[in-house]
Amino acid sequence: MAQPRILILGAPGAGKGTQSATISDHFDVEHVTTGDALRSNKQMDISHLDLEYETPAEYMDQGELVPDEVVNAIVDEALSSADGFILDGYPRNLEQVEALEGMTDLDVVLALDVSEDELVHRLTGRRMDPETGDIYHLEYNPAEDPAVEERLVQREDDSEETVRERLRVYRENTEPVLEYYGDKGVLERVDGEQAPDEVWEDVRAVIENA
Ligand code: AMP
Repeated sequence: MAQPRILILGAPGAGKGTQSATISDHFDVEHVTTGDALRSNKQMDISHLDLEYETPAEYMDQGELVPDEVVNAIVDEALSSADGFILDGYPRNLEQVEALEGMTDLDVVLALDVSEDELVHRLTGRRMDPETGDIYHLEYNPAEDPAVEERLVQREDDSEETVRERLRVYRENTEPVLEYYGDKGVLERVDGEQAPDEVWEDVRAVIENA
């Protein structure tokens, strides 16, 4: 399989971003991630769509899903120029699954399994270096350079309250997506609580054996 079309599923904090970056490098496929795409366009004017809010930011900062028509358009555009891809953060509900099926076929669908307690711990301890974009964790991956440590910031939606809401939204909207691919018999589950390089070994094996 030269340029695989891969979907990675899992809760916020399951490690999709980390694994997707490695997958993208190793298999030479494009990393398509709706979370990053939306963060770069948080203030985009969507008032013409006549939705509840006028920008993605208002949905995101509360941990709610950005409306399907906005997200579907972003993914459609990104996939139309990609040969192979690793799709991360989408689809997050069954309507998005249907939209995706109209855009492309998939070669691999994998899910990272992580318990809810561990997800909360990972997300609320996550910090970002605003200068480099590098991700740290207060306990698992602390910044060693005091200058870096001092400038670290928390993502607005990583506060405990918003994390709990994001996980509720995940259970309600995105778990049916896992069930859907599970019922289709195509879902490959990987234990996401292992160390990142052990997760990667399992992820790579799943993709290579697809
Ligand atoms: P993430 O970085 O994947 O956790 O996404 C951050 C936020 O972006 C989410 O909490 C949503 O508000 C929004 N978002 C990302 N992907 C989607 C999607 N597929 N559908 C709707 N909203 C999304």
